[in-house]
Amino acid sequence: MSGTVDSCRRGLGELGKAVGDTLLPRSCQGCGGILETNERGLCVLCWRGLQEAIGDGGYCPRCGSSVGAFTQANGGCNRCRDFGPRYERLARVGLYRGPLAEMIRKLKFRRGTDSARLLGELLLGAVEGVQWQMKFDQVSWVPLHWWRQWCRGYNQAELLGRRLGDLSGWRTGRLLRRVRWTAPQTHLSRHDRRENVRGAFALRRGVDVTDKKILLVDDVLTTGATASEAAGVLRKAGARVAVAVVAVAGA
Ligand SMILES: [Zn+2]
Ligand SMILES: [Zn+2]
Repeated sequence: MSGTVDSCRRGLGELGKAVGDTLLPRSCQGCGGILETNERGLCVLCWRGLQEAIGDGGYCPRCGSSVGAFTQANGGCNRCRDFGPRYERLARVGLYRGPLAEMIRKLKFRRGTDSARLLGELLLGAVEGVQWQMKFDQVSWVPLHWWRQWCRGYNQAELLGRRLGDLSGWRTGRLLRRVRWTAPQTHLSRHDRRENVRGAFALRRGVDVTDKKILLVDDVLTTGATASEAAGVLRKAGARVAVAVVAVAGA
């Protein structure tokens, strides 16, 4: 399906967004309402809700909690002091709420292609908003267990990662695989989440990430345990890793 997304985008090419919009369904990705001709992706109300989810741009570079635009949280914030992630830093679009949460739900459960388009652009904006200490060689994503991916038909993090690659020009590729089924993390404590994902990932056969700088994409980050575990595998194989997510939940 991501191929369809890509070819659709390529097909639209330089015709511009105005033409693209007339070809694509014109409903708000947040509330489902019909869009006015001058609205793109989201209605005015949902854009406002999105701004609230994004906040003033100040967030913790480890766990993504909002900390205020002028707060220094390089050593972590109150929420993540005891958490030393194995990625170097995090970029996020916003908090998991309002239209941002709705777009992710669409992406996750109904393969929301229009949501993927808009979320990819927001993700690029978030990545570009960070002063990175490294230049990325490659974009990759947190893999799903093959069974879960087979059931869903796709991995939403991969859709986002590939979209980000399209928009940024960075190379994209599958680097990790999920080697172990993990129970859903929803009702687990911070500590239990870390235990739950321990050993869940491995490098794909034949992949060499020595000295590579990798941007690892996921849709939602809660405690950071999953992203950290995935980043740890790449790090152990010699890479430097940063993480980009659309939304931070529970912050
Ligand atoms: Zn709306
Ligand atoms: Zn934090």
